[in-house]
Amino acid sequence: MPKKLRKKNKRRNILELITEAGLVGRGGASFPVAKKWKLVKEALKTRKVAYIVVNGAEGEPGVEKDAYILKNYPEEVINGVYLANQFLGNQKIKKIYFFLNHSYWEKYLVQLQKVLSQRKYQSLAKKIIFTAKSKDLLYISGEETALLNYLEGRKIEPRLKPPYPTEQGLFNAPTLVNNVETFHDVSLVGRGKFDDKRFYSINGAVRQRGVFRLPATLTIEDVLRQTDNIPDFPFFVQVGGEAAGEVLNSDQLERPIEDAGAITVYDLEHTDKNKLLSHWLNFFAAQSCGNCVTCREGTYRLAELVKQKNHDQKVFTDLLTNLAESSFCALGRSLPFTIKSYYINILKKKI
Ligand code: SF4
Repeated sequence: MPKKLRKKNKRRNILELITEAGLVGRGGASFPVAKKWKLVKEALKTRKVAYIVVNGAEGEPGVEKDAYILKNYPEEVINGVYLANQFLGNQKIKKIYFFLNHSYWEKYLVQLQKVLSQRKYQSLAKKIIFTAKSKDLLYISGEETALLNYLEGRKIEPRLKPPYPTEQGLFNAPTLVNNVETFHDVSLVGRGKFDDKRFYSINGAVRQRGVFRLPATLTIEDVLRQTDNIPDFPFFVQVGGEAAGEVLNSDQLERPIEDAGAITVYDLEHTDKNKLLSHWLNFFAAQSCGNCVTCREGTYRLAELVKQKNHDQKVFTDLLTNLAESSFCALGRSLPFTIKSYYINILKKKI
């Protein structure tokens, strides 16, 4: 971007810039960032204080993009939080909670604190509280309302919405929750350097594992091709993470990758069906917060079923349908989605 335009950008409101950039949240739901920020600002007209929460929980297996960002671009993340704090009003933001996955806390806390020691971030540093996700904390703690419960010292389970956190979040105050990648991108927007690229984790049976930053408009095939990861053997992929991601065959890769932050490649001929099913089911059974019977008992029973050589397929399907129809949150609903996509797209079986 030319220097002149960058100077002009500096004078403009960050909300205008984010709106113009069309930035959407990078946590999976793709909610427009400007809309979320505006909702918190609106709520603050009748409330005294608000909170900001940086979600760095990243618990989905196969997704490591926030780790990559924290390692390589901590200043952009902090600057994004700084811009949010300025926009909502330094006096109005009571505290900023920076929630980190346990291993990210160990690896990246020091460099985040180093960035905060800069003069520019002096007032921000006084109100940021870093908090780590302990090793045994559930995957669900990355869900924004479950995370708010955790920060309040309550049971880690999702809240009923509405009310939404923007209006009634942490300690009932308006709360802005965005993830690490979103704050990183906000910073790029503020600096006039945003180019609508996304971070993608590539894993599994590939030549080049890692995190890559590529345009958000690519297809799944483009991402694999541009990272030199198109396999030369029969394969299938899981897109969006190794737990809740959709499973697609190699003829379905023309789809836009959009907000799926990860691709895992599997060798079609050497992937054991029961091992893969057990991997998914055990993960969800271990991560269920236990709030709903269909999820708490259903995931456990499904995991037990696939251990049997010839399990009752009707019971298996019924349990999945129950999970899809009566789970309270996305964790319970995403398991049937993953398994059904595997059966339909890879095993070519109805379920
Ligand atoms: S679906 Fe599972 S994880 Fe979600 S609230 Fe119910 S029990 Fe908890």
